[in-house]
Amino acid sequence: KLYNQVQDLKGNIRVYCRIRPFLTGQQMGLSTAEALDGQTISIITPAKNGKGKKLFTFNKVFGPSASQEEVFSDTQPLIRSVLDGYNVCIFAYGQTGSGKTYTMTGPQQLSPESLGVNFRALSDLFFISQQRKDSMSYAVFVQMIEIYNEQVRDLLVSDEIRNSSQNGINVPNANIVPVSSTSDVINLMNIGLKNRAVGSTSMNERSSRSHSCVTVHVQGRNLTSGSITFGIMHLVDLAGSERADKTDAVGDRLKEAQHINRSLSALGDVIASLAQKQSHVPYRNSKLTQLLQDSLGDQAKTLIFIHISPEPDALGETVSTLKFAERVS
Ligand code: ADP
Ligand code: MG
Repeated sequence: KLYNQVQDLKGNIRVYCRIRPFLTGQQMGLSTAEALDGQTISIITPAKNGKGKKLFTFNKVFGPSASQEEVFSDTQPLIRSVLDGYNVCIFAYGQTGSGKTYTMTGPQQLSPESLGVNFRALSDLFFISQQRKDSMSYAVFVQMIEIYNEQVRDLLVSDEIRNSSQNGINVPNANIVPVSSTSDVINLMNIGLKNRAVGSTSMNERSSRSHSCVTVHVQGRNLTSGSITFGIMHLVDLAGSERADKTDAVGDRLKEAQHINRSLSALGDVIASLAQKQSHVPYRNSKLTQLLQDSLGDQAKTLIFIHISPEPDALGETVSTLKFAERVS
């Protein structure tokens, strides 16, 4: 399998592309994006003489009918890496409404089939650690933060949590909470989502302007040798990538948009320089890349899900999303 070849490379970066279906109640127009095969996406572009097509190739392309299970399915090797003591970052990138939160968390009404990457990753992690229980003992901790206007906010604050938490490592003031089952994780994520909505008119609005990051710390102890492994997995639902100029932003909105643009391009710069094996990696240019520094590099594994909206009026953003993805892959 392709993944196994890629996996052996240092500084492993993979880019997966997912095309959202038209939503119920939406006019079913002609989609501007089409999955041609498992690795190629075709975009209809306004060319000089009538319509043109442009192809982009990624490690994987998922069409609008891909299930949550399919989209997650080859993430399992990354989960094993975390349990082996490696660091992993999984990102969702795309314009607001393209399906980032759907991929990472799921739709608003969750069912077992619709659970997103976050839940599946944690549930796999518990499953595999259970399989290894005769040789390894694992302790798992979760942290959940939001980055808004270059400020970090802890999302796991509640009376429930206060007693069990420790202070985090990469964000010293953020709570890091021990978990031992998928239902523990679901409870925590619910607290995090509730806190995320505080202080904003709607959660959707806020969530499109901030990065949210679920970080899983996994400490393993080899029961025979006593040796310790320590792996970290960051699951990041990025702020919407739409450009500020288009939304005619002013005042606070403009400031937000500038912070988002700057941090997404800082992320692009870091990943592109890793992909090109450059000696200088510009981690210091944003809060996001500073926080993820330990997990974006030579020994770490990165998976980026880029999201494409099928509507014709999304085309401009679709093209810039694909350009971002091309640059980092
Ligand atoms: P984003 O987080 O990028 O702003 P959302 O994940 O909130 O976008 O998706 C926008 C809307 O589209 C939501 O109502 C979501 O449930 C729906 N949606 C997104 N992706 C899919 C999908 N693959 N299948 C069905 N509905 C989807
Ligand atoms: Mg979202």
